[in-house]
Amino acid sequence: MQPGGNRKVMKESLAMIIIMKPEIDPKGQELHQVLQHLKQYPGVTAKVHSVKGATRTLTEVYLIGSTATLPREAIEELPGVERVVKISEKYRLIGRHQGQVEAVGFEYNGVVFNQDAFHVFAGLCAVDTREHVEQMLRALQKAGLTTTRMGAYKPRTSPYDFQGHGQACLSYVFELAGKYGIKVITMEITHEDHIDEIRKALTESGNPTGVMLQIGTRNAQNFELLKVVGQQDEFPVLVKRGMGITLEESLNACEYVASEGNRRIVFCLRGVKSHLGDPHRNFVDFAHVPVVKRLTRLPICIDPSHSVGRRDRAPDGILDIFHATAQGVIAGANMVLVDFHPAPERALCDGPQALLLEELEAFLEDVAIAREAYEKRKALAARFTQA
Ligand code: PEP
Ligand code: MN
Repeated sequence: MQPGGNRKVMKESLAMIIIMKPEIDPKGQELHQVLQHLKQYPGVTAKVHSVKGATRTLTEVYLIGSTATLPREAIEELPGVERVVKISEKYRLIGRHQGQVEAVGFEYNGVVFNQDAFHVFAGLCAVDTREHVEQMLRALQKAGLTTTRMGAYKPRTSPYDFQGHGQACLSYVFELAGKYGIKVITMEITHEDHIDEIRKALTESGNPTGVMLQIGTRNAQNFELLKVVGQQDEFPVLVKRGMGITLEESLNACEYVASEGNRRIVFCLRGVKSHLGDPHRNFVDFAHVPVVKRLTRLPICIDPSHSVGRRDRAPDGILDIFHATAQGVIAGANMVLVDFHPAPERALCDGPQALLLEELEAFLEDVAIAREAYEKRKALAARFTQA
């Protein structure tokens, strides 16, 4: 046997993208003509991707194989073609390619995720009791939120710490989510079997809600798990930044998911492990929000709870977690993942960083101030860029 003979061959990679004009019909004549035209080039495979964005559907043709001699200009002259983009080496699927491709995002269970959208996912770090789940979800409904976080499978540093209720809590979590109008729950998985357990529990409870699979910081380089979440496209994926690896290495985790077929990905900044961040649990890295937006097409989430890790309050009366959240939101974050708990002193995981239900209203108002400031900053930048 040759060395590596029984291993899978290297993935054939994306080499070019033909971006169709926004108004073209993905089933129409123009696209058909482009695909016919491509047939004359041997060794080139074309795959059509239609991404439903917030306001329109973007159609792209992905070209795989030997595209080196493809006449770009001839393709660009075909009706319906907006432009042809040569793919750069890094982040082939999730990348912006020097700003040549748009960040379209995706819709899941009626919720739109893209680089302009904004959602707050407030909830329990770990599900402990049914009562706490219900209290949490009732508070979210009262605040007008339809998105939450609920940890069932907890990856813990110590084997003696609470590992999460796992499968056992799924049915009541989903049932209650339906009762309180929750559309999407982020839920960490640590093993591929958890996907089947979630799917089964959702089906058995009549699909009352949706789940975004969370890949935790500790699994940012668990390549087999990343491949598995990429091989299904039923559930979108929230990939958290690896705590002790570079941003590039973490973004490659998203590229792993995308390269297996699932493009419904959100990237989450959650701080990096460094004592230079002391006394915070991690060194807050929300200055990377605009960087990730520039490098990739992905919506960006921030997790102030796991970044800051404690309920300290600054002399101005504002909690450090609120301050860090505002920093990420004012920089354009599209999603906030934040821990709340009805009784943090009784929480089985990460109680010290949980915000109180009574703080939800203030949190959301503070977030709205930061978001409004971001919108104003964006408008200001647009005015000066045009001038
Ligand atoms: C979590 O969000 O519950 C979690 C464990 O976060 P992280 O993977 O960022 O530590
Ligand atoms: Mn936690």
